[in-house]
Amino acid sequence: MNNSANKAGTLRVAIMGLGGYATRVAKAMLDSKNAKLVGLISGTPSKIKDWQATYNIPDKNCYNYENFDAIKDNPDIDAVYIITPNGLHHDQTLRVAAAGKHVICEKPMAINAKEGKEMVDACDKAGVKLLVGYRMHFEPNTLEIIRLRDSGEFGEIKFFQGLTGFRIGDPTQWRLDKELAGGGAMMDIGIYSINGARYMVGEEPIWVTAQETKTDPVKFKEGVDETITFQFGFPSGVISSCLSTYSTSNLDKFFLNGTKGFAEMQPSTGYGPIKAWTNKGPLSFPHVAHQTVQMDKMAGIILNGESAQIPVDGKEGLKDLIIIDAIYKAVKTGKKVKIDLT
Ligand code: NAD
Repeated sequence: MNNSANKAGTLRVAIMGLGGYATRVAKAMLDSKNAKLVGLISGTPSKIKDWQATYNIPDKNCYNYENFDAIKDNPDIDAVYIITPNGLHHDQTLRVAAAGKHVICEKPMAINAKEGKEMVDACDKAGVKLLVGYRMHFEPNTLEIIRLRDSGEFGEIKFFQGLTGFRIGDPTQWRLDKELAGGGAMMDIGIYSINGARYMVGEEPIWVTAQETKTDPVKFKEGVDETITFQFGFPSGVISSCLSTYSTSNLDKFFLNGTKGFAEMQPSTGYGPIKAWTNKGPLSFPHVAHQTVQMDKMAGIILNGESAQIPVDGKEGLKDLIIIDAIYKAVKTGKKVKIDLT
C-alpha cells in the first residue's frame, strides 16, 4: 500500500457512484468521528461539481470511471466506498485493490460466489481490507437481541422468520436489469433475510429449499426474480422461513423464537428507527443513523485492526453469495440444496 501515514486517525474515503444511497452515506459521514469524505469518483461531471461544493472536495481528489486507477498515486485517500450497481462491484473492487486502497463495497458484494471469491483473493493479495456495507451488523437493537440470545434469554432457538420486500417502481431501472443487478429482489432486499437468518440464529445454514413465483414476467424478465420464499436448515435443528419480494408494500420483519421466549423486529432492516421487542417488552435504543455508526466502526476496523461483533469482511459477503447461488439452484432444481460455508 502506498498510503501516507494517517496521523489524524481518520479514515479518508472516496465514494464511487454518486447515486441515491451514496447521497445518504455522504450525509451520514458528516457526523462520523472517524471517517471523512475526501474524494469522488463519478461518470457525471456535473455531479462531481455539485458534490465538490457540498463537501468541499479538492479537484485533485476527483476521478471518473476511466482514470480512477490513478488513485494509487494519491496519498490523501485511504479507502474507496463502492456504491454502484451490483454487477459493477467485482471489476471496480479489483481495480481499487490494484491501486492499493482499502475497499468498502455495497451489498450484495458481487453477483455470484465466483466473483466474490475473486474479490476476496484480490484484496488479500494487494494487502488491503475488503468490507461490505452491512449497516445492520452495527445496529444496537440487533446487537442487543443477539446478546439476549447468547445469554439464554430465549432458551434454545428453534425458528427464525425473515420477511423483506418492497414494491419496485420504474421498470427501466438497473435493479431490474439482469446484467447490472445480478438477479432481482433476492440480490437487493432478500439478502437482508439471508443475512438476518444467519446473525439472528447464530449458526450457518446447511441446506436450503426455495420456491419462486412471478406475477409479472414482462417487468421481471428471465433471471430477475420477483418473489422467492426460502427455507434454511441449521446444524442444531433450527429452521428458518424467509420471503424476498419486489411486489409488496414495505415488508420488513424479523421474528426469532426459542423454547423460553422470542424477539421480534419491525421494521427490522430499514433505515430506522428500528423497532424491536421481546416477550419481556420493548427495547429502547435511541436512533442513530446506521451509516454514521457503520463508518465509525469501519474506520476502526481498517485503521486500527478492530473487529466487528458480526463480521462485515469480504469473507462474510462471500458467504451470502454462496447462499444466494444455492437459493437460485434450489429454485431451478426444485431440490433441497446443501450449503457448505466452511
Ligand atoms: P442508484 O441508482 O441510486 O445509484 C447508482 C449510481 O451508480 C448512480 O450514481 C449511477 O450514475 C452510477 N452508475 C455508474 N455506472 C453505472 C451504470 N453502468 N449503470 C447505472 N448506474 C451507474 O442506486 P443505489 O440505490 O445508490 O444503489 C447502489 C448500490 O448500493 C447497490 O449495490 C445497492 O444494492 C446498494 N444499496 C445499499 C443500501 C444499504 O442500505 N446498504 C441501500 C441502497 C442501496
